Amino acid sequence: MGLLTGKRILVTGVASNRSIAWGVARAMHREGAELAFTFQNERLGERVRKLAAEVGSTLTIGCDVSADGDIDGLFHRLGNTWPALDGLVHAIAFAPREALDGDFLSGLDREAFRVAHDVSAYSFAALAAGGRGLMRENGGAMLTLTYLGSQRVFPNYNVMGPAKASLEATVRYLAEDLGPEGIRVNAISAGPIRTLAASGISGFRKLLDHAQAVAPLRRNVSIDDVGNAAAFLCSDLASGITGEITRVDAGYHVIGTPRL
Ligand code: NAP
Repeated sequence: MGLLTGKRILVTGVASNRSIAWGVARAMHREGAELAFTFQNERLGERVRKLAAEVGSTLTIGCDVSADGDIDGLFHRLGNTWPALDGLVHAIAFAPREALDGDFLSGLDREAFRVAHDVSAYSFAALAAGGRGLMRENGGAMLTLTYLGSQRVFPNYNVMGPAKASLEATVRYLAEDLGPEGIRVNAISAGPIRTLAASGISGFRKLLDHAQAVAPLRRNVSIDDVGNAAAFLCSDLASGITGEITRVDAGYHVIGTPRL
């Protein structure tokens, strides 16, 4: 029996087989979960349907998280198909490309700040509000993905830093709000991984090389490293853990000055 046998889990943010959400889906499937997926628009719909089929899922639902109607539609459809939801994985982030290149202020304007926070942070709260009704009876686990750029400064990460800080605070407030309903809310702070979203950050290759050189494990993490931690956090083995930001970054966050 797997860690997640009998659990129904919604996974958002699969864009390709390099997506962190795909590593999460594979680990959760291996541990026995039944999965549903979302895709942002039809451009990606076919790709997500094919990946979903690889983990035995036919439940794929379009949802652009910047549209309230899409979020309502997602949970309506899910509620018509599944009697209850046990887990929700939010692996979504976006900021306009110009804001992820150069100085913090140079590519920043009101709209870039708004969009980054809307899609990358508010959307987790919006999905939590939509999903809690389906978890009310048996409780459940919600999980999001963040990055150390919420607390420390990384070149070109820029407006995503404040957006991830907002996301991490949202995790703590949601944990308190939903805890009495038996719903746990956590985040994984992953080390850098080459994905479509990451390729939008200027100089990402250098970030990967640096992390590999100085992290205690002397390597970068994979989507499978993150997926395994996600499966644990959404399983009953993590029943006492909520409001937590778990680092899956080969230990990079503990380093002050690397060996010179
Ligand atoms: P990814 O494969 O590109 O996934 C990002 C996902 O966000 C895509 O599926 C994308 O869909 C989706 N998305 C963006 N805007 C959306 C919207 N309005 N509505 C619905 N979906 C939307 O990249 P990833 O690196 O795996 O990112 C997943 C999460 O991990 C993000 O929160 C990211 O910040 C976090 N993270 C990544 C790293 C890293 O180094 N890669 C490290 C730490 C944390 P489209 O492709 O259709 O836009």
